[in-house]
Parts: sequence; C-alpha cells; structure tokens
Amino acid sequence: MSEKGDFPGLSWRNILYAILVYVGVALIFTALGLLLAPQTAQVGGTRPEETIPGHLAELAVFGLLLGLGSTVIYGIKGLPLAFLTTVLTVALDIDHLPAYLGYAETIRPAHSLVFAIAAMAITAITIKELDIELVVASSFMAHMAVDTGLFAPFSPITFGYVELGPYRLLFAAGAVVCALAAGVVLRIRTVANRSGGPSLVA
Ligand SMILES: [Zn+2]
Repeated sequence: MSEKGDFPGLSWRNILYAILVYVGVALIFTALGLLLAPQTAQVGGTRPEETIPGHLAELAVFGLLLGLGSTVIYGIKGLPLAFLTTVLTVALDIDHLPAYLGYAETIRPAHSLVFAIAAMAITAITIKELDIELVVASSFMAHMAVDTGLFAPFSPITFGYVELGPYRLLFAAGAVVCALAAGVVLRIRTVANRSGGPSLVA
C-alpha cells in the first residue's frame, strides 16, 4: 500500500488500515482466548467502572506524547503518526469486550507478545511501511507500560499469567525508542524519495 509522493507511507489510508489491522487482530486473539483457554484461565474481569476514563486518558496521553516525539523528528507533516500512536495505544483494550458484555474471558488476551508479533507481521506484509510497523510496536509497548496487574505473555499459545510490574519500565523504554525510530525512518525515506534515491522499503 505504498504511495508515491512527498510523504510516502503517511497516507490516511495506510493510517486507517493499520488501525483496522490492529483492532482486528486484537479481536481474533480475544476470540482465541475464549475458544482455547481452559476454564481455570477464564478469570478476566473489568477494572472498577469509575477508574476506566482515567486509565484510558493515561493511555491516550502517553500515546500522544510518543506520537509527538515521532512528529518532532520528522516534522509537522508527521502528525498522522501522532494520531495513529494515540489510537493504537488505547485500542489494545478492545480485548476486554467480552468482560464488558458480561462473559468470562481470559485476562487481557491480546496483551501478549504473540499478539505484538502477529500485528507487526500483518502490518509489515500488507502496508510495507517500516515507520508504521515501528508505531505498532511503540503503541503496544506504551500500553503495556501504563497497565498494571496480570497478563499472559504468550496468549493464546499458553495462558500462564505473570505480573506486568517488573516489565513496565522495559516496555516504556521500548515504546520511546520505537516512536523516535519511526520519525527517523519516515524522515530518511522521505528525503530519499525526494532526491530520487533508494527508499528504505519497497
Ligand atoms: Zn490494557
């Protein structure tokens, strides 16, 4: 879905497509959790209702800050990356949908390294824009850095739960590095495109 022009890869079509892929894969992982996990692992619930808006706001703010980091490196026309990072950072919680609807489910079925790899792989295959892949990685890690409590790192392969706490700082650092790298990649690719030189990606 590469597009020629001054700002290759930063079309709104690619941005919206990346959101669809991310949400779609998260919902598939949610369904896989429901189908594959043993009853003993179907213990996911929702946080107290009054804390949900604050938590979503925290996620959105961290995503926005990371996206603005990409934009600062690339320039003002990189603002769609800030939009994408903000939306994706919040969107991972779509995997709580069954619990909100009153069904038993696994804890955070898409808050999984397997999900991150799957979402990045599908984005890489279909969009073929490294900056967007880096935003996907950054947004996933940003969400994990803000969350607390249990997650299943290898869902839906196994549903062993571990505490997020010891890994949050690592996720935060990874989120920052990938957000900055996204800005760098987009900048390099745009310069190469303008000068007629080789692009970083096909
Ligand atoms: Zn979450």
